[in-house]
Amino acid sequence: MGPSAMLFRRPHVILYISLALAVAISALTAAVILQMRQDALAIARDSGHNIALLVERDLKHNLDAYDLALNTVLHAYREPSVLALPATVRNALLQDYVATTKGMGSIFLTDENGKVIFQFGKRMPQPASLALNELFASQRIAGDDALHISQPFLPLVEGAQRSIAVSRRLSTSDGSFAGVVVATLELDYLREQFSGLSLGKGGEVTLRMLDGTPLVRWPVLDTPIPDDRDTPAFSRFLLSSRGDFIETSHVDGQRSWYSFRRVGNYPLVFSVALPEQQIFLRWRLRAWTIGLLAAGLDLAIIGLALLAARQMRKRTALVSELREEAHTDALTGLNNRRAFDRRAAEEWSRTQRSGEPLALLMLDIDMFKAYNDHYGHPQGDVALRLVAQTIGGLARRPSDFAARYGGEEFVVLLGDSDLAKALALGEQIRAAVQARSLPHERGPLGILTLSVGVASTSECSAGSLEELLEAADGALYRAKSEGRNRVASYSADAVAAH
Ligand code: GH3
Ligand code: MG
Ligand code: MG
Repeated sequence: MGPSAMLFRRPHVILYISLALAVAISALTAAVILQMRQDALAIARDSGHNIALLVERDLKHNLDAYDLALNTVLHAYREPSVLALPATVRNALLQDYVATTKGMGSIFLTDENGKVIFQFGKRMPQPASLALNELFASQRIAGDDALHISQPFLPLVEGAQRSIAVSRRLSTSDGSFAGVVVATLELDYLREQFSGLSLGKGGEVTLRMLDGTPLVRWPVLDTPIPDDRDTPAFSRFLLSSRGDFIETSHVDGQRSWYSFRRVGNYPLVFSVALPEQQIFLRWRLRAWTIGLLAAGLDLAIIGLALLAARQMRKRTALVSELREEAHTDALTGLNNRRAFDRRAAEEWSRTQRSGEPLALLMLDIDMFKAYNDHYGHPQGDVALRLVAQTIGGLARRPSDFAARYGGEEFVVLLGDSDLAKALALGEQIRAAVQARSLPHERGPLGILTLSVGVASTSECSAGSLEELLEAADGALYRAKSEGRNRVASYSADAVAAH
């Protein structure tokens, strides 16, 4: 198994990876949602911009046509031959110009006293109308003949529409006031022009005069249109000839995307307002959908990782349990023969390299067959556990390794131990077992004892682990034959004798 495979088997690594994945998914989702929001705004911005651009062009075109009509009448007035014509002929001449000027209420020309010299149109507003009087007065004092657009007014004519008047001043050759030429424009005509616009729910377009006076609003029907010249949105209209921005509406408190344009050089400003809520309506729905999906995905990933980590921990615990079991003797809890064989082989090759001495104790309970026969096998097991406990309790150094070798035989492997140290531990164990004073009627002392055979590579020239084991076994045999309950060590002569 490679190191990366090892890494993936660690539960916390799985958890970290899944968390990182979940965070990455969340970040990506957030980025996409934000991008979508910007896209929605960009679309609204474009659409607001386009509407403003087209409508402004159309309005300008209309007003230019009015201007042209005024100029035509003006020129006709200055042309004595035209003036000399009968009124009916004059009207017929002008009719073509006026008829093509859309939304026109009427067009008329007055002298310096306000007396109408000629007029054409479906309805003729009374000069007494307030706005027209103001217009007349202001044109009288105006120094130039620039186009003037009046405040909206309702002509005093039956069935008349709310209108504005577009006018020019007539001057004599010496520059003094000679009258006005006026065309009235019905605001409903403009409303109709706007009525084809698709603005979405809550969207609206408004045409205002530069002084803030609202002229036409669509599709919201406000009569009268609220005067919003003091609003933050309107003040921004005055800053430049066109632009767009987000601002809170003073009418409904909603934030809207505004796109506005000054209409040519006329004192009019056209604006489109698209409510933010509407702009982001679809985006919001999609954002929720995507966001919830991502959250679900994150939860699933983390949930699965937690599950996998739990399974992994369970498995790890199980494996270590099994490993432990595989190395432990079930009856005594000491290491088993298998574990001993493995450890002994490791220790052997390690001490071969390091040159440290390796010692071995071989321990065998005295007259245990007789113990079993007398006290019964179960009690024999109890005695075995007791002896194992005693041995395990004394062989405590990290380099000590006690194991049940088989039956009632035990071994202790002692790393870095010469014969003297091994003999000392053997004696300690022997004495400790004796001190337990477990009755053994048929034993040599009337209590349970054991015999110990000791060998160390420091004394015997064992060429292999097997030879060391044999040496210890030989020593044990000697301890048995010399009367049991004692510790004997390997000696070359003893082996030779035997
Ligand atoms: P000696 O002093 O010469 O060692 O005599 P001994 O009776 O101990 O000799 P031997 O090695 O022949 O006896 C081993 C006995 O240990 C035989 C068997 O009944 C007993 N024994 C082996 N394993 C177990 C065990 O797991 N439980 C019990 N209760 N007895 C066991
Ligand atoms: Mg035995
Ligand atoms: Mg025995």
